[in-house]
Amino acid sequence: MTIERLIKKATDVNPDIDVSEIIKAYNFAKKAHGDQSRKSGEPYIEHCLHTAFNLAQIRADQSTIVAGILHDVPEDTSCTIEEIEQTFGSEVAKLVAGITKLGKIKYRGIERYRENLRKMFLAVVDDVRIIYIKFCDRLHNLKTLDALPENKQHRIAKETLEIYAPIAGLMGIWRLKWQMEDICFKYLYPNEYKKIEYKYEIEKKAERNQFFNKVKNRLEEELKEAKIDYEITARFKHLYSIWQKMQRKDRKFDEIYDVFALRVVVNNIEDCYKILGVIHSIWKPISRRFKDYIAVPKPNGYRSLHTTIIGPDGKATEFQIKTHEMHDESLYGLASHWSYKSGNKDYDKPGWIKEILEIQKENQNTEKFVQEIKTNIFQDRIFVFSPKEDVIELPEKSTPVDFAYAIHTDIGNKASGALINEKISPLSQELKNGDIVEIIIEKNRKGPNAEWLDFVKTKHAKERIKQYSQTNPLYKIKKMFKK
Ligand code: MN
Repeated sequence: MTIERLIKKATDVNPDIDVSEIIKAYNFAKKAHGDQSRKSGEPYIEHCLHTAFNLAQIRADQSTIVAGILHDVPEDTSCTIEEIEQTFGSEVAKLVAGITKLGKIKYRGIERYRENLRKMFLAVVDDVRIIYIKFCDRLHNLKTLDALPENKQHRIAKETLEIYAPIAGLMGIWRLKWQMEDICFKYLYPNEYKKIEYKYEIEKKAERNQFFNKVKNRLEEELKEAKIDYEITARFKHLYSIWQKMQRKDRKFDEIYDVFALRVVVNNIEDCYKILGVIHSIWKPISRRFKDYIAVPKPNGYRSLHTTIIGPDGKATEFQIKTHEMHDESLYGLASHWSYKSGNKDYDKPGWIKEILEIQKENQNTEKFVQEIKTNIFQDRIFVFSPKEDVIELPEKSTPVDFAYAIHTDIGNKASGALINEKISPLSQELKNGDIVEIIIEKNRKGPNAEWLDFVKTKHAKERIKQYSQTNPLYKIKKMFKK
């Protein structure tokens, strides 16, 4: 990697970047690291440039790229954060300090895992860009794992699969998630990796390309008449996710039919639905496999139309239809909107980031924090609707009480019943994705029922109910008598 290559990439992606700052950071890091080298024997500066290059690829802003070059300086050299601040300003210094803090993990084993996870999440809340740097740093470390002894290779790969990749997924940065997962897969399960790679890259390649062309040609005929501008490509599943699917469903490679999907990218949302119509008029769709993530995006913001049809030769074939903008988002996650570019961090944080903030306030104890994060954030989320069609995002198995508190504390406190899809239902009923929920309110009701604590799922609802109970001694007495 050279500084020229980095500059070219960074300015291709963002022409407004101040090249002189990047060169300054390069010279600074080069001098600070001196004759240090990596385990592979390469000069240390290689790692700094690669990290920054990975960042430029996911369209990071200037401060993030500069901080990427400098990320190991305070940890590995005699140069301090203060000197970085004097030379590059407080924004860059803050990012580098964030990375340095992430690197200092004192525990081993399960404690290490917990501390690591906690720090990662706190960094997300503090400034998402810190996590982007950490991911890009880790990606280059993974690509140079060969230079390390086997036990270290395994430790790093395992940690990446357990912590980094899921967080990258939560943040919608698929590009990084896939790359990290496939490398880890290769080191942790070398035989399985080789087998799948062989099937995928060699044995099945010609067959797959032939099938792709068949579908593409057929679709092109129809689309020419509809006069829609589009691009169609094959999107191949990465090896780790094929393997996961084989494990989960106990299937052989040949039985995994969706090892690839066809991706159609168009200019606007209207065209997405038009293309969907055309596809369904040519091939018969499998109805339960149709997903409209444009009308109802996934919790991490992912948007696209997914449909699986019975294609040529009776083969089930998946299509993903999206706009260019949606496609960029799915590759770069939040980074596709570096809307906090000029120090303006006022971008819309996804709900789960806000929830981390609440959990953090409550738990100084690391074990509990991680437990809360895992149950509250890592589990699957559902979307339900208010009668006015507001979308409320909740953890799986949430109840109408969770829903009520997600809308407003008063609605929660005064809830007396619920209508789920216009049917009277108990407040403890599990909600499902897409349910329409209406809360029946009892105006004179004093407050929540302490028994709701037995079934509510969200942190938020629990806190509100407890809060009320604490200020009302009657609740405590009632509870005592119940036991
Ligand atoms: Mn590093």
